[in-house]
Amino acid sequence: MLNRLGAFTEAQWSNLSGNEIVLTALVSSICNGVAVGSDDDRTNLYLIGGALGSGLSALSYQLEHHFRSQQLRVLSIERHPQKSVTLFSSDLVYSLKLPAEVSEEIRKHKGKSALDEAYWHLLLERNYDLIIIRDAHEWVLPSLISSSQSLLAMQELVARCPCIPIVVFAEPGAAREIDHAVSLTNTGVRSFELSPMENDRDFEMFIRDIRRKLLAASDQGAEISQEEIKSIHSKSKGLIGYASRLVHLSLADAGALRFNEAENFEAEQLFPINGESFSSWMGRMSVENMSVAELNAFDVFSHQCAQLSVDPDSLYEFPAIRSCFNDRYEGVFQSFRLPTDGYLPFRQSTSYCPECLKADIRKVDLPAWRSAWRQLGMCICCDHASPVMLLSLSTPHYSPLDKAWRAYTEYVSSPSSRLLVSFPLISNGEQAIADNQMLLRITARVQSWVLGDTQIIQTQKPTKAVLEFLLGVWLCDPAWRTAPGFACSFFFPQRKGNSANFTPDTSFADAPPHYSWATPRQIAVAYWMLGVAFNVISFDEALTIRDVCRPYSLPFPVDRNEIRRVGLGVHARRVREEMIALAYRTLCAEEFEQVIWALR
Ligand SMILES: [Zn+2]
Repeated sequence: MLNRLGAFTEAQWSNLSGNEIVLTALVSSICNGVAVGSDDDRTNLYLIGGALGSGLSALSYQLEHHFRSQQLRVLSIERHPQKSVTLFSSDLVYSLKLPAEVSEEIRKHKGKSALDEAYWHLLLERNYDLIIIRDAHEWVLPSLISSSQSLLAMQELVARCPCIPIVVFAEPGAAREIDHAVSLTNTGVRSFELSPMENDRDFEMFIRDIRRKLLAASDQGAEISQEEIKSIHSKSKGLIGYASRLVHLSLADAGALRFNEAENFEAEQLFPINGESFSSWMGRMSVENMSVAELNAFDVFSHQCAQLSVDPDSLYEFPAIRSCFNDRYEGVFQSFRLPTDGYLPFRQSTSYCPECLKADIRKVDLPAWRSAWRQLGMCICCDHASPVMLLSLSTPHYSPLDKAWRAYTEYVSSPSSRLLVSFPLISNGEQAIADNQMLLRITARVQSWVLGDTQIIQTQKPTKAVLEFLLGVWLCDPAWRTAPGFACSFFFPQRKGNSANFTPDTSFADAPPHYSWATPRQIAVAYWMLGVAFNVISFDEALTIRDVCRPYSLPFPVDRNEIRRVGLGVHARRVREEMIALAYRTLCAEEFEQVIWALR
């Protein structure tokens, strides 16, 4: 089954047309340009000028199809007539396929550039092999006031993407304007002109080929006369696009057209990325082409999400949504998992892995939120060559559909994206990177011991209740019982209510403090304390942690005695007594033994 582009170009293109020579020259020139790579004065802009009816559009689609069928990444920018403004930058943003709310948010913080930095980051991160600008004359018509603005934006695109070949298709006048504008950017430009075909044997063969492609199977025998071909040439003046259109029309009039777009292609299926949550997948679906049934599913989904009690990630089980997708989605739906015990509520889960999001952008253009990030206590992503610290989404303004986008744009516009280390460290440069990786590896080890079933050390792993109790003591909310847990303020001071998920808690008497508000970095510190206390981290490793970290408060504790001292030092006597009483009341004797050392 052909995809939409394949089906379209299959019927529109003939390699016997005069434009085939331009296509071949263009492809070979682009491929050689790519191969040269480091050569400074290589061409990266190709201008294809062609009059109306010269087959400009068909050539642009054929070029796109050619590159896409080799699994290369193509960004195609075209005018979107449904938009009210005729501005190149605005259509460029549109072509990046971001959810509308995210685009709106970025636009609010627009800087000096024609596009915001976040867009440029996204465009470069996606690593396109080719950019196609279709019908560029639509943005640079002399009658348009915004024409010079569009030219500036094209100039900026060319200047910012010196390593990506850009092919611009335009009518000759506009092509000259663009040529003039980009000549100021020191870019190598190569121009091509589409010419009409002569009325000769080649034209005849081209018309017969186009006709053969368009003819219904039952009419294969019907021939076209020399006179008819002559007439087509005289009407079209040899212009390829126009001639092919005439053949198309005459076959349509005779009811002999074979090509039926609706029957010849099926929308490409969007598969979830490994571990992707259902809401994230729906968000990605919403910016792809959806069928009418899928659009219905989307409406039901949005309607359900408006109810606060509904977990958007569990909606794949909702019959009214499931029934909108046909059988080919069976496997897709089976891959989703309902968040279970130990998962944070949707609204409270804000941790994400920036490396996963960046990899998504490179691989599939759109970032995906992972279900695993919702697990309480998750602070490290182990899906990479070396462990990666999760970050916290700070904006509370996100919807189930755009959460991954919010995180991605927040990350690329924040200083964290430029930091090479995840913790404040004593060392600099290469040494700091090595120290950071060592800390991340240790954290990952404790995390898999806490969250997984793997037995890392000989002694029996403490129960979940013990681990949660201790983590709660070291990570308790700063506004709660007036003092923050030691692990929260180890690296940075804590201010009251500085968390987006801040909820004052007064339930201490019944349960240990919860730590769902803690950031991944704070959880990492508490894991080190846990690791030292239960020998998942060796004494030598604990000393190294102390040596490399630059703490805000006291140095990192390296044994149970020190952990007890720093852990309790932050709490008043009354709170300590309250904690001991709580442990005594809620834990069994064996569990009590495993926490009491830290409480008195
Ligand atoms: Zn990751």
